[in-house]
Parts: sequence; structure tokens; C-alpha cells
Amino acid sequence: MEKIPSFQKNHDKLQTGLHMSAPANGVTTFDLRFKKPNAGDYITPDALHSIEHMMATALRNSSEKENIVYFGPMGCRTGFYLLTVNLDYGTVLALLKETIPVALCMDEVPGAKREECGNYLAHDLAGAKEELKQYLTILNTID
Ligand SMILES: [Zn+2]
Repeated sequence: MEKIPSFQKNHDKLQTGLHMSAPANGVTTFDLRFKKPNAGDYITPDALHSIEHMMATALRNSSEKENIVYFGPMGCRTGFYLLTVNLDYGTVLALLKETIPVALCMDEVPGAKREECGNYLAHDLAGAKEELKQYLTILNTID
């Protein structure tokens, strides 16, 4: 098997922040790195799951909703992938700075009823907000 591009990056050199990959088939993947890889600090599974629901909802209700292909968690629990079309780095950075505060204002995790989710008890709204606040602080250091 060939080693896929995601595994060719040296994760020990990968820093927190927002990283953009070259577009493939018209889709651009953004690496939203919340945590420094292999540094002992990971997003808990419940917070990771809640952030997925909250940010997918915020992004799909945003001004760029037509250009959002997918938002989902990394299995290593150090961040998320956002797949987009027609959006450049600056637009995505601005979009995240706009939509994270929307998620921070949510009083409940969207789509977290039994009939809406595959593991509806595995959520942590407060933990998700804490991680999102920290990530927004990281994004605010990027121009
Ligand atoms: Zn779910």
C-alpha cells in the first residue's frame, strides 16, 4: 500500500493552527489543528463529538454554506478536517473566526437527540466550548 499524503507529513513538526492542502478534485482540505500532535494533550471523545455537531451546524448555516463539503474530527483527537470548494485560506480563516463564536453561543449540542445521532449520550457541551475558545485564541494569532 502507498503511504497517503496525510501520513507523509511529519506530525512532530506540525503546529497548532490552520493548514491548507492542495486542492484535489476541486475540493480543498483544511487541517484545523487544535492540539500539537503527540504532546500528551488531546480533545476528549465527547468534546470532539460535540464540536463536530456544533461546527457542522454553524458552518452549514453560514454565509459560505454552499461551499462546505464536510466537517469532521480527526481520529487522533488533535483537530478536525474541513473540506471546502471555492474558498481560499483567508476566507476560511475569517469564516472560522465568525462561526466559532456562533458555536460558543449554543445552549445545547445540535442534533444530539437519540433519533438524530449514533451515540447521543456521548456529548460534552462545556468541554466543546472550552476547546473552541482555545482554538479561537490560536486563530486570532494568525493574520
Ligand atoms: Zn453524533
